[in-house]
Amino acid sequence: MNQEMDREMTPSVTVRAAAKVNLHLGVGRPRPDGYHPLATVYQTLSLHDDVTVRTGPEWAVDLVCEDDIDRAAFPAGEANIVVQAGRLLVAHHGIERAAEVTVRKSIPIAGGLAGGSADAAAALVALDRLWDLQTSDEDLLAMAGALGSDVPFALVGGTALGGGRGEVVTSMQDEATRWWVVVPSFLGLSTPAVYRHFDELSPDAPEEVSVPEELVTALADPDNRALAAALGNDLQNAAIDLRPELGELIEAGERAGALRGLVSGSGPTCVFLCTDRGSADRVRLALIEGGQPRVLVALGPVTGTHVVEYS
Ligand code: ATP
Repeated sequence: MNQEMDREMTPSVTVRAAAKVNLHLGVGRPRPDGYHPLATVYQTLSLHDDVTVRTGPEWAVDLVCEDDIDRAAFPAGEANIVVQAGRLLVAHHGIERAAEVTVRKSIPIAGGLAGGSADAAAALVALDRLWDLQTSDEDLLAMAGALGSDVPFALVGGTALGGGRGEVVTSMQDEATRWWVVVPSFLGLSTPAVYRHFDELSPDAPEEVSVPEELVTALADPDNRALAAALGNDLQNAAIDLRPELGELIEAGERAGALRGLVSGSGPTCVFLCTDRGSADRVRLALIEGGQPRVLVALGPVTGTHVVEYS
């Protein structure tokens, strides 16, 4: 009890980081360094994790979540990306410190929604604020890129172009509200396995990839129909080949009235762009009636990592 009270009295910072979808995911053939060149447009969703940090005697990570998150897939200790983020930040500043990190998780693990990347970005910002390190945005972005391809975008948020292996992020104008239905799968799909299968299916993938002009034009249009027509994911066939039920799910969502269904990133989460909130609610209900246990409605874009609590 006393320990719990001590913990409550220790200063803490909580940072929120959002899940992402790829409005377009163009994938090329692997580079000499093994990474795939990507040309992607990311968008953050209102679905998010909250990461709380407190100074502690050693690095530790704790998970708080509902039963629909696969707890066993959340790595303990050093293997967790939030601890790697913390270690990178203290090494960058040449200081010796450690923290206890609590992740309040709503983003499904290994779902293609970059939940781990969001947590890493949130941990960097939370620890920087907790210890008042005044790390420059440029250095935070560089550390984020070293932690993973999707981590820099989690810092920036909104709608953004991702180049390189996804880590070179340029914000894009997107004033409209986009309504999404999100269908996570309890069983994750390994990102490397999906890329390996993509390589098998696409031996002629180009060396250089780009984002289609029609998608850039569609983002300037608040009507979600234009955006729906321009959505695309080069990993979708590979993900569906590994998990055929994803193809059936996409068809069911589109039959229920979604403008377009899409595998999110490397899957297995599928996302459905809808005309408006009413339509998203109807698609959600239809998919639940069709037997899907967990169907969420989310809107995008939302802001990148930001402090939500400070004590
Ligand atoms: P991406 O699309 O970036 O590949 P994802 O959404 O498919 O990511 P994540 O939830 O980011 O998947 O997790 C990918 C793997 O990272 C998991 O299988 C897990 O073992 C590992 N991992 C490490 N730290 C975390 C964390 N804090 N949250 C979730 N997964 C983590």
